[in-house]
Amino acid sequence: MSEAENVWIDVTVIRCPHCGKLYVDATWYVLGLESDIDCSVCGKTFNTRRNAVARALLKITVEEGRIVHADVAQQLSIEEKPP
Ligand SMILES: [Zn+2]
Repeated sequence: MSEAENVWIDVTVIRCPHCGKLYVDATWYVLGLESDIDCSVCGKTFNTRRNAVARALLKITVEEGRIVHADVAQQLSIEEKPP
């Protein structure tokens, strides 16, 4: 029986300013690259960095090759510099 292992990811939630659809992506992508994306619901383009609404460090538990649990380990500020 293999032991559970934990791994962490810094994620940022963004909201489409046109239709309100929420997305989540890696913080380095949202706050680091500041990319524009096309909304899958309304099709309009918006900037991820300018529409960031929440950020947190997630703890993910992996066991026997499967993700078995995910939890908020720490609330983070979207003003803080990305990793
Ligand atoms: Zn949209």
